Amino acid sequence: MSLGRVLVEKFQPDLIEWLGSRVEIVVVDPWVEPERWNSEASQVDGVISRKGKITRAHMEMSRGRLKIVARTGVGVDPSRVDLKAAKDHRIWVTNMPGSNSVSVAELVFGHLIALVRHTIEANRTVKENRWGDYLRFVGTELAGKTIGIIGMGNIGTRLALRARAFEMSLLVYDPYIPESHVTALGGRWVGLNELLAGSDFVTIHCPLTDETKRMIGAEELSLMRPSAYLINTARGGIVDEDSLHRVLQRKEIQGAALDVMENEPPPHNHPLFLLDNVIFTPHLGAITREASKRGEWGAAEEVIRVLEGKSPKNPVQPLP
Ligand code: NAD
Repeated sequence: MSLGRVLVEKFQPDLIEWLGSRVEIVVVDPWVEPERWNSEASQVDGVISRKGKITRAHMEMSRGRLKIVARTGVGVDPSRVDLKAAKDHRIWVTNMPGSNSVSVAELVFGHLIALVRHTIEANRTVKENRWGDYLRFVGTELAGKTIGIIGMGNIGTRLALRARAFEMSLLVYDPYIPESHVTALGGRWVGLNELLAGSDFVTIHCPLTDETKRMIGAEELSLMRPSAYLINTARGGIVDEDSLHRVLQRKEIQGAALDVMENEPPPHNHPLFLLDNVIFTPHLGAITREASKRGEWGAAEEVIRVLEGKSPKNPVQPLP
């Protein structure tokens, strides 16, 4: 007997098959069919969301039917789910802490190397038959440079371990962890301004909250070294995109790598797309086979638990 109707995204076939034997599933890609996502979201008992957003309006229209929104990833900010509304409507919200931290940390190193070794531009010149242009791509070593990590949770910690292997120095800003956690990894626990002024690479790994929204604005960017790079794989809303555009255009910082944008998908004519010193990936941090497997199966199990009347394993907040 089906435990209910569940809205899912395009997940791995074996997971869809497993779920399909327990619940009625509706598969929708929220970015390809946003209207269908919106109409289905209020007609199901559970949602498994990777990119799809669940709003207060969905919860209201569901009239008590929706029991759980299970995130395959970590972030539970309003770009994914309205937590306050979920509490008001007594809907469980779960996430998968740590499920994608290795994947994100590895992507950051991919971005660091792409920025300092110009691999994206160099790839283009080879394909355009300009092999001899190699001297345009004189790079910089990561060894001996300082990486500044904002937010030393699961991802920040994995990144710190990798930074050590790359022989980099480490500064960390995270007011919610003990200093000993940073010193144990060979880093220095500093204030935000000291991190910004002292880093060759500033990389963001805190959640998007009221406190961190636009935390990196004009003033903070002005503290960064002209030779420094900003990497954001956390949430677009943490950085003020207008200010970032300004400093990149004026070359007041060297460059940036962005996996996340304030509005996703971003408009095709976003001003940042016109700049040469910024590279993008389309929110790929957790898009690996391993992270998808951990996140999607974990989220599916949470939905089944709740539809069977049990409590979830990783609730983001208690229910009233
Ligand atoms: P986590 O909860 O393990 O760590 C977050 C850390 O940020 C914590 O140590 C916390 O103390 C710190 N923090 C909170 N507020 C802060 C503040 N004001 N200033 C500095 N630090 C602060 O989470 P995580 O797994 O490391 O993920 C971090 C964020 O990365 C997530 O919230 C999510 O938004 C984002 N993320 C993005 C992708 C992607 O695909 N690009 C994938 C996973 C996570």
